[in-house]
Amino acid sequence: MKALIYAGPKQAVLKDVPAPAAREGAVKVDVKYCGVCGSDIGIYLGTHPRAKAPLVFGHEFLGVVAEDGKKFKKGDRVVAYPLLSCGHCRACRTGSAHVCNTLGLIGIDVDGGMCEELYVDEDVLFKVPDGVSDRAAVVTEPLAVILRAVHQAEFKARDVAVVIGAGPIGMLTGIVLKNIGAAKVFISDVAEKRLAIAEELGLTPVNVAKEDLNEVVKAATGGEGCDVLFECSGSAQGAMDMTEITRVSGTICMVSVHKKPHEVNLQQLNFKEQWMIGTRVYTKEEFGQAVEYTKDLQEQLEKIVTHIVPMKDAERVFDMIADVNEGTVKVVVDCKDF
Ligand SMILES: [Zn+2]
Ligand SMILES: [Zn+2]
Repeated sequence: MKALIYAGPKQAVLKDVPAPAAREGAVKVDVKYCGVCGSDIGIYLGTHPRAKAPLVFGHEFLGVVAEDGKKFKKGDRVVAYPLLSCGHCRACRTGSAHVCNTLGLIGIDVDGGMCEELYVDEDVLFKVPDGVSDRAAVVTEPLAVILRAVHQAEFKARDVAVVIGAGPIGMLTGIVLKNIGAAKVFISDVAEKRLAIAEELGLTPVNVAKEDLNEVVKAATGGEGCDVLFECSGSAQGAMDMTEITRVSGTICMVSVHKKPHEVNLQQLNFKEQWMIGTRVYTKEEFGQAVEYTKDLQEQLEKIVTHIVPMKDAERVFDMIADVNEGTVKVVVDCKDF
């Protein structure tokens, strides 16, 4: 079968590999779509701390069950909760398996779903709701990341939010915040194509190449700052700006992965008595909530899937995402088109 393989730094290779072997408790899934995630970019660049070549990319896959299992039937459309937890560290023992000391993921620590077919444990499969398009359902996994983030931030209806970074995670954050009753959501980026989509989604775009995000937010909040800020850029600038833009007693939620320690104005954190909270992936319960949530957000989710790339061109996806002129938000590989 065809699979997109990480073969070493900056080498994403479409290859013929042996079909996967059957496994007790698992069913065969025919992959339809597989999303490309920020962590896949880290793997491709060779900077991911765990991923080892050769590896099949992909933890955001959607497919159809190819055989009757114990829980699932042939033809069921499914997505997979991709986390692999050890089961015995403190996090696992206390109900937080998603922050396991040795957390792994399908598609990072074991072969993933950017391929024609794979075996997946029935325990981690979720049925896609009827009526939800493949295009919307393929972003279930990143949507679960956002559900975790808004739960961690204890976001409240009518709060004013700032989202730094309008990539897939920032854009999804904006969509969810709007849907749960944010009074206003500012979202910053430098890519005009992304900001245009953000505006269509009812968010307030700020091009930080032209405008000062802090000034825009302060002007709109009587000089106070936002109630909650979601850092979705992973950048040094985002880390430096977040305490300034957030109000006294406001909340800062760290959604993006900061791959190295960035400077933060901790004095402002003291003086403004701000709350800073981390968030990492999602619990299995939140993943299940995201599966159902796609029914409410279908139209918006489809809008952020800007590029569906046939498998035969999958080697190009990382160059596409790096090219600002492409205007990508979510890039998805069509694993049936090779
Ligand atoms: Zn992901
Ligand atoms: Zn564990």
